[in-house]
Amino acid sequence: MSHLSDIQIAQGKTLQHIREIASKLNVKEDDLEMYGKYKAKLPLSLIDDKKVEKNNLVLVTALTPTPAGEGKTTVSIGLTEGLNKIGKQATVVLREPSLGPVFGIKGGAAGGGYSQVVPMEDINLHFTGDFNAVEKANNLLSALIDNNIQSKTNNLNIDPRTVLWKRVIDMNDRSLRDITIGLGGTANGVPRQDGFNITPASEVMAILCMASNLENLKKRLGDIFIGFTYDNKPVFAKDLKAENAMAILLKDAIKPNLVQTLEENPAIIHGGPFANIAQGTNTIIATKMGLSLSNYVVTEAGFGADLGAEKFLNIKSKFAKLNPKCVVLVATIRALRHHGGAKKEEYNTPDLEKVSVGFKNLEKHIENIRKYNIEPVVAINSFVSDSKGEVDFVIEKCASLGVQAVLSEGWAKGGEGTKNLAEAVVDVVENKATQYKALYDWKSPVKDKIEKIAKEIYGAEKVAYDNKALLNLRRIDRLGFNDFAICMAKTQKSFSDDERLIGRPTGFTVTVREIEIAAGAQFLIPILGKMMRMPGLPSIPASENMTIDNNGVISGLS
Ligand code: ADP
Ligand code: MG
Repeated sequence: MSHLSDIQIAQGKTLQHIREIASKLNVKEDDLEMYGKYKAKLPLSLIDDKKVEKNNLVLVTALTPTPAGEGKTTVSIGLTEGLNKIGKQATVVLREPSLGPVFGIKGGAAGGGYSQVVPMEDINLHFTGDFNAVEKANNLLSALIDNNIQSKTNNLNIDPRTVLWKRVIDMNDRSLRDITIGLGGTANGVPRQDGFNITPASEVMAILCMASNLENLKKRLGDIFIGFTYDNKPVFAKDLKAENAMAILLKDAIKPNLVQTLEENPAIIHGGPFANIAQGTNTIIATKMGLSLSNYVVTEAGFGADLGAEKFLNIKSKFAKLNPKCVVLVATIRALRHHGGAKKEEYNTPDLEKVSVGFKNLEKHIENIRKYNIEPVVAINSFVSDSKGEVDFVIEKCASLGVQAVLSEGWAKGGEGTKNLAEAVVDVVENKATQYKALYDWKSPVKDKIEKIAKEIYGAEKVAYDNKALLNLRRIDRLGFNDFAICMAKTQKSFSDDERLIGRPTGFTVTVREIEIAAGAQFLIPILGKMMRMPGLPSIPASENMTIDNNGVISGLS
């Protein structure tokens, strides 16, 4: 067992030149766009739809998490190492981290312990600039909107009070949530209320992750719905002729990034929308790239399976015609204790009774995955504080449901600790996989789609709509957006819309407060409760513990 921090383990690794990693995927050096020695972008021409169909996609998701995260990224990377160890050619395909969490509470998102992607500092900080490009494309549209409102000669008659489009920055900065812009007189724009979201909450990020190619990206950017004119006509980005310039800014960001795991296996990291307000998974292009180049792709969807996996299966896989063959449900003993009523200070204390009460949360997620015709494998992400009794209990309980639960020790041991998990996954892929089925048809009525998710996945008794949501439904109908996918915005802390309801709540009502339109991404976003699009920093931010020495070596990044 190691006492080294994540960054110390990562810095202890001698990296392979990225051309060596590419050669494992049969990608020639000439095809790489290199960003230094250890990062490269892959051209979209390498995507091969026949291979996408033939190769095996494995989705990693989790039970309802505690705020620390239950280790999906860590298990995804670990499982990829394990698959390679047992002779499968596997690539991990992940999201890019946001600077908000890096400097805030959660820290980086490049895995942990001996299951990491490297160079972890670069991946966590700017990486190849994709987030910056998304930010610039988003803010170009903002500038074009305000310029149009200002202009007397080239004016779309936009009512500034109806503009829904916000500016973005990749930083936790609560003081930018609600601002007034355009002050200072007639030369400085028309004053209006505006605000910043964090970059992973931008529709441009959602669009980048849904786009199939540059042409499709442009079309989607043009379809972004901005607000209304004074005579109540909808205004879209294409009305401002914004989509081409926005796409130009994204010309490199659309290409997936190749890096490596600690065991020198390929990792593709691309795109990064949050999972509570957006789709929570990497780009369709990256997933297809992985499947074009390797026999197994392990990928992650954010937060619990009620959020990330639901969206992965009903939005991404449906649109991109992907067929996930196995779902790995990450469970931790500490989260099961939490769902059994343990307080935060008791998370690390063994308590079989609480684990057995908390198991019903995992059981509901298992039932849910089976609704998609996919067999889950439970990965118990092993923590030093787990007791054997608790782990055995979970394995037996899962077995009684016909599910394999396997202890996953990738954090402590890398691929050597995940060989059993890899065998279990291969067994499902080779012997139990069929064609998965989505939960709803995009073409069914909006309320039916929302109810299906709320009742079948969350276990809600009823769905209620606030007046604003009912008005939004009429607007959606008027604008012809009924056939969009549903991208729920809900707390990640509970199956319900009330974060205090742990475990497996029943008999509850979820309330749709309003329904937003992301016309470029082709999502309707029902807002269940107050959703944060611009987080704040904690009173002691993670940034205080970080430093860089005179040789450029970073420490304190976790
Ligand atoms: P998720 O992707 O589910 O949000 P991560 O894989 O990012 O979770 O893990 C969250 C944090 O927990 C990371 O800092 C990681 O290093 C740590 N972690 C993950 N697995 C373990 C483990 N088995 N033991 C100790 N820490 C772990
Ligand atoms: Mg993660």
